Amino acid sequence: MAVKIPLLDLKAQFETIKDEVLPAVMGVVESQRFIMGEQVRELEEAVAAACGSRFGIACASGTDALLLSLRTLDLQPGDEVITTPFTFFATAGAIHNAGGRVVFVDIDPTTFNLDVDQARAAVTSRTRAIVPVHLFGQMASMECVLQLAEQHGLAVIEDAAQAMGARRNVNGAWRNAGALGMTGALSFFPSKNLGGWGDGGMIITQDAQLAERLRKLRTHGGAKQYHHEEVGTNSRLDTVQAAVLLTKLQHLGDWNAARRHRARIYSEALSTVDGVVPPATDPANEHIFNQYTVRARRRDQLKEHLLNRDIGCAVYYPRPLHLQPCFASLGFREGQFPEAERACREVLSLPVYPELSERQQEAVIGALREFYA
Ligand SMILES: *Cc1c(COP(=O)(O)O)cnc(C)c1O
Repeated sequence: MAVKIPLLDLKAQFETIKDEVLPAVMGVVESQRFIMGEQVRELEEAVAAACGSRFGIACASGTDALLLSLRTLDLQPGDEVITTPFTFFATAGAIHNAGGRVVFVDIDPTTFNLDVDQARAAVTSRTRAIVPVHLFGQMASMECVLQLAEQHGLAVIEDAAQAMGARRNVNGAWRNAGALGMTGALSFFPSKNLGGWGDGGMIITQDAQLAERLRKLRTHGGAKQYHHEEVGTNSRLDTVQAAVLLTKLQHLGDWNAARRHRARIYSEALSTVDGVVPPATDPANEHIFNQYTVRARRRDQLKEHLLNRDIGCAVYYPRPLHLQPCFASLGFREGQFPEAERACREVLSLPVYPELSERQQEAVIGALREFYA
């Protein structure tokens, strides 16, 4: 009988942590402290520490982690923010919603991450910030991004939504995703490597003053109740989510290691399959594979083939952001970022979660071999 293999199996994960996570959640329920309970502060400290950063500011989503970070720049009309068009929509959406003009540059085809040389070429007198995305769990070339930013006085906001726990060797030292920029934006969306039971996010930063401002911004711009220094918003993380995430955080290192292990098995097996190109890991990076994303010949047919065999797979992302209708007014055109566009045509993400069994993974590999035989 064929095994059913989802792209991600959160039910299987839940079974492994049920005995820890349910009492933690019940603790919050018993306390009835649903907003800013003590677990929120505990999680902020634990996540910041796990990421090698000083401060954590929990908020309602990864999108808000980006948006609040960008809001601290006080962008003026015409101010530009550089990012990649090959990412989840939130990256560019947050720039727009913070009042910035989105400036896309093409990606490096080997890592799918922002091409820093192209970013350099796109800097103008109006450029204020750069938002590198650590796509699929692999960090962008942060030393190059930081150097560029320093040269031009730009803020760096890391979109680390897919990369919590990823590391990069920067000048001989391991540095964590999110800890190098002005801020790092994390997401606890359920499908991220550290996922909650709903939406959630966190900003991490090394800057005490910035942390204080962000704490205000997430609660209507005031440190004291009914006293507002600036206009913020309501973007908090529920205590229930913090309790879930604190429990899961204990396992994140093991889970990320298991993803890397699965990825190694795939890459070894797929290196002999003519038709697929396994994802490349920059030797400076420890990739944590939020997605295991190959390039595939006849991608759409392969996707059908896998889905017909009950093997979960998905295209992240089918359309580059510079060609989204909502950004038409920015004047980007097809062909402008050929690598991002080619990636959109070629990529396919395969199941890579920690609970994926050997048997399941063999079935995925077998189905790929069968397709290209
Ligand atoms: C998930 C994600 C976000 C947004 O996170 P949410 O918590 O879903 O708002 C932002 N950027 C990237 C690259 C993401 O993958």
